[in-house]
Amino acid sequence: MIVGRVLLLAIVLLLSIASTKAQVAATSPPAPAAADKVSTEQRASPEAITAYTLPPDRAGKAHNLHRIYFWFSLISFSYVLVVLWLILRGRFAAGYRTYAELISSRRIVQLLIFAPLFILTLDLLQLPLGIYRHWLGTSYGLTISSWPTWFWDWTKAELVTIIGGTIFIWILYVIIRHSPRRWWIWFWAASLPLGALVVFLTPLVLDPLFHKFEPLGQKDPVLTAELQKLARRAGEDIPPERMFWMGAGEKTTTLNAYVTGLGPSKRIVVWDTTIAKMSTAQIFFVSGHEMGHYVLRHIPKGLAIGAVLLLFAYYLAARMVGLFLSRWGSRWSIRGLDDLASLPVLVLLFTILAFVGNPVASAISRHYEHQADQYALEVTHGLTPNPAQACAQAFQVLGDIDLSDPNPMPADVFLFYDHPPIRDRVQSCLTYDPWSQGRQGEFVK
Ligand SMILES: [Zn+2]
Repeated sequence: MIVGRVLLLAIVLLLSIASTKAQVAATSPPAPAAADKVSTEQRASPEAITAYTLPPDRAGKAHNLHRIYFWFSLISFSYVLVVLWLILRGRFAAGYRTYAELISSRRIVQLLIFAPLFILTLDLLQLPLGIYRHWLGTSYGLTISSWPTWFWDWTKAELVTIIGGTIFIWILYVIIRHSPRRWWIWFWAASLPLGALVVFLTPLVLDPLFHKFEPLGQKDPVLTAELQKLARRAGEDIPPERMFWMGAGEKTTTLNAYVTGLGPSKRIVVWDTTIAKMSTAQIFFVSGHEMGHYVLRHIPKGLAIGAVLLLFAYYLAARMVGLFLSRWGSRWSIRGLDDLASLPVLVLLFTILAFVGNPVASAISRHYEHQADQYALEVTHGLTPNPAQACAQAFQVLGDIDLSDPNPMPADVFLFYDHPPIRDRVQSCLTYDPWSQGRQGEFVK
């Protein structure tokens, strides 16, 4: 259910130099023992759900956790800005550039020294944020990976970031040197195939670095056959080779499923935790939701919208970077935009623009998520005994185990929610019913 991340991927790609967000976004909060208990009860007593509710102590815990996440996100954003400003004031990037020039007069060698040093510095300075976040997830029972495992994951992600970021920075500065005025358009044109390539490679190269994947047909042939039936009901053919099982349970207690990839790498992934803790009707609903993203082409659409947002961002960054450099360039020992030492200024501007653009991207993502929920209700209609209840139960289980806030702060939803609040999703489950008025579904006829 994380198609929203894809929307921002093009921007995150840029920010991969600076950001730890892409990794952490996948996991959010709950308590393992309690969670198990809840879902077993759910299965045993199919009491009709009328709203998303948690027992008072658990609701308080969920609300607290999300209040912490909200402030943590704002503080992290400010912290990154301060770190970049200190890097500029302390002329660290200029120092790295001078060091690289001492080693070699060849630009490519200078870049191969400068870029990894800069990325590593920035990410090491952000390491405390990642450590705090892992500690928080552990103390709320959502994350169960050990510290060595977590740190090994961080190291792998860092290596990938250094390699990807260095290529990206190389392309950026080659373009800036060739076209100092129009670089933002050319760089935008270069970012689009790069972004698509990253989306294509993510399930093939990146995801397997962190989790185990197996064909769903091998792990759960019955579920796979049922899902194919579901797909055929919608007039779609999703072959079993495009359905995967992911071993999430060794690192997290939370539940999820998602669609990922592009073209030949496009696939539906279901976490083992979801299969273990949900009933068949609930898994059906969740899979119907992912099928909705797949069939309604949300990934390519998200990429297209991301491309438009990115063009705005590059244009604004190009306008602003000139102002920054003419005002403070000499004080920060930056010779000009084509000097590698200007990189922290660009990263600072992109960080601000990504933050400002996030509510727009999140609102679009929430719309797609709502569409996928509706699709799931339509595709399971007539196949599941009570699709509305299966939908509501699935969100009740998911919300309980993932510690979703029953009463999220409106500012939090506006700024950071790329899915509608669980409370609203349960209400949609219970109220969407075109069939009772003799009409058909919008997506599945
Ligand atoms: Zn989704």
